[in-house]
Amino acid sequence: MRYIEPHGHMVSRVTDDYLDMVTAGCACVCEPAFWAGYDRSSVNGFYDYFCQLTDYEPKRAAKFGLPHFCWLCINPKESEDVKLAEEVVALIPKFLDRPNVLGIGEIGLNKNSKNELKVLEMHVDLAARTNQMILVHTPHLEDKLKGTRLIVDLLESDTRIRPERVIIDHVEEHTIEVALEAGFWAGMTLYPESKCSPARAIDMLECYGSERLWLNSACDWGVSIPLNVPYTAVEMKRRGWSAEDIDKVVYQNPLKFLSQCKKFKLPKG
Ligand SMILES: [Zn+2]
Repeated sequence: MRYIEPHGHMVSRVTDDYLDMVTAGCACVCEPAFWAGYDRSSVNGFYDYFCQLTDYEPKRAAKFGLPHFCWLCINPKESEDVKLAEEVVALIPKFLDRPNVLGIGEIGLNKNSKNELKVLEMHVDLAARTNQMILVHTPHLEDKLKGTRLIVDLLESDTRIRPERVIIDHVEEHTIEVALEAGFWAGMTLYPESKCSPARAIDMLECYGSERLWLNSACDWGVSIPLNVPYTAVEMKRRGWSAEDIDKVVYQNPLKFLSQCKKFKLPKG
């Protein structure tokens, strides 16, 4: 089996997880910027984090032969402080030329607040000005549908944004159509508890087809399973999916989306 982990927060994982992922057939991992479990106290915290994502973490992954890519932003959970967000958005362009940076993400909404929307708008403008791809985080539980609609409306109202270069992540049964119908890609996050289980993700793939969809484990510092993409592939096989159709979802689809960024290249062989 081969697969791509398109959304994994590796800085919060142990090195053994890299070995397990490579053993399971992982071809590369992509790491969106996110919340650290606490609010950073200044823009310097983000400077250090962006150095970690663009320098130290790719080196740690390379020890296992695993290419590591990342996305940069101030995440929605820390977006209440608009002044801090402005400083971070001003810092990001200094890192955009680094070889493993794929775009702006994971941006979006957490509680659908006014300040979060303001900061989301700043990020979308940054992505448009610098021609970057976008990875979107959608809120959890009861806020998800409203938040997804707000995000899609905001993205659609900016004519500089091409939907095929945007992925709306953490979709569920009630939001997947909102993302796909607007022409965006959509991601399903395989968590053991919240978001989407492997069985629910496969149900959605069987209902909506596998165009413009990817699977990820998110694997962060919370309850999560770094191998949930290959585990879901095993479940797909058990449910009668062909090897080719599984490969499309877990490898070819993320490859197609991510290859829109010229820096995204996998080693041959
Ligand atoms: Zn994430």
